[in-house]
Amino acid sequence: MSKISRKLQGKIRRQAKNRCGYCLLPQNLNPTFLEIEHLQPVAGGGTETEENLWLACRECNSHKSAKIYGFDEKTGRRIRLYNPRRQNWNRHFKFSDDKTKIIGKTVCGRATVETLKLNSEILVCVRRLWVEFDLFPPKD
Ligand SMILES: [Zn+2]
Repeated sequence: MSKISRKLQGKIRRQAKNRCGYCLLPQNLNPTFLEIEHLQPVAGGGTETEENLWLACRECNSHKSAKIYGFDEKTGRRIRLYNPRRQNWNRHFKFSDDKTKIIGKTVCGRATVETLKLNSEILVCVRRLWVEFDLFPPKD
């Protein structure tokens, strides 16, 4: 059970603009509550302090699990996963022209796309609908 106070959870949600820090899934398109995730897993010594917390959807959080590193096939490098609190999404990722896929622009971006399976068949499928109805990606 999480010991993170409601107040801190609310603060994290606001900082994260109430959307997943990885796939940018907004809370209002998600039937389940976005989860407060540990950037540095508790198993790896991560704390439950603001600096170590962000918001993630269930899919991203479950694929990330206790991982800190991912693998970039292009360079063959093992690289630290993207940190949504410290790094800029647009620097590491972009959307495909049809907005249904997330493309890693950097080694870190590519390793994160792979590790968190940001372009699973089901995600691409639902994104297509959201894009069609102009609900995704977020405008800001
Ligand atoms: Zn996500």
